[in-house]
Amino acid sequence: MERQIYFDHAATTPLCKEALDKMLPYFTDVFGNPNSQHAFGRESVKAVDEARDIIAKIINAKPNEVYFTSGGTEGDNWALRGVAHAYKDKGNHIIISPIEHAAMLSTAKALAKEGFKISYMKVDNEGVVDLDHLRSIAKEGTIFIGCMMANNEVGTIEPIKEIAKIAKDCGAVSFTDAVQAAGVLKIDVKELGVDLMSMSAHKIYGPKGVGALYIRNGVKVQSILTGGHQERMKRGGTTNVAGIVGFAEAFKIADRDLEKNFNYVSGLRDRFIDRVLAEVPFVKLNGPRENRLPANADFSFEFIEGESILFSLDLAGIAVSSGSACSSGSLEPSHVLLALGLPEALAHGSIRFSFGKHNTIEEVDYAVEKIKEAVQKLREMSPLFKAEGEIKYV
Ligand code: PLP
Repeated sequence: MERQIYFDHAATTPLCKEALDKMLPYFTDVFGNPNSQHAFGRESVKAVDEARDIIAKIINAKPNEVYFTSGGTEGDNWALRGVAHAYKDKGNHIIISPIEHAAMLSTAKALAKEGFKISYMKVDNEGVVDLDHLRSIAKEGTIFIGCMMANNEVGTIEPIKEIAKIAKDCGAVSFTDAVQAAGVLKIDVKELGVDLMSMSAHKIYGPKGVGALYIRNGVKVQSILTGGHQERMKRGGTTNVAGIVGFAEAFKIADRDLEKNFNYVSGLRDRFIDRVLAEVPFVKLNGPRENRLPANADFSFEFIEGESILFSLDLAGIAVSSGSACSSGSLEPSHVLLALGLPEALAHGSIRFSFGKHNTIEEVDYAVEKIKEAVQKLREMSPLFKAEGEIKYV
């Protein structure tokens, strides 16, 4: 196979060897259903309890505040829908950020159809929540205030402690989606003061299809998956023992190596950002320069569709992601970039690069050369560049 470079770690990461080794026995030898009343079941219960303890300790929660889920999407759905339904007698006002993941935005839309009123906090042109605006719209009857800890597209890190305080002051439940942050940034749920927090394993070298929702004791969250008595009667469904074991192991390693990985990956990112800004004309870095996830670099390339760059880089063996969602044949501009105030044309031309602990400086430098080539070639073919570029810039 030709050279392959993976710069899409915000989409998913490879499973780490340590997590795989921990998981393997739970597919075969230790296969009992934790709900069974016999020795096979008890062995699985032990593994799940240990995993719960590990995760609780990392985020400074109590083990009985950690509920395993099928990943970030379920955690987001459960938090928002579960709180809305549990507190509907208290109020019907929900506040979220406009740059949330689709798991939140689409759930909010569905709740609006049920009669809940949804407000969106303002964000500035780097994606940071405007706390004064949030304070001005949080009121009696607001039952839920939710904002992601770090944005998956532009990497912005949000002031979650302040947001949780505003929620507390108006009597709302606070939630943060930490899918991109858990295992990357140090998280202490007590210190942050959040009531609920969703996490996912596959962003931190754990398995896909498993995650957890932190629910602070005393906060009411209605179940969305009803069935058996799993997860202390709150989430039905046979427990994903191997996945949970793998999640805990991956999280443990991510937490152990957090500082080392942060420094290494942000070093790659900084070199990449500096070189692209210096060597590629008509390019805009989306999101803040400093206050962003260590792995994230997101650029809008003027006069070119993001997808065209993505395909050119794919041909060169470099895997990246475009901000626009390609759904049913129509290319929508990124809702995140539009919320940051980018014009549609720039919101169409964005590419997200997300680095990982196995990437190298040499890969970064190789990618910069390939980007320069791809961008130049695509602009030569772009009528937009010829029309506007000649007048404005060339
Ligand atoms: N929230 C954020 C911020 C994400 O980036 C993602 C995945 O990309 C999700 C939620 C969904 O997580 P999962 O893939 O575990 O369902």
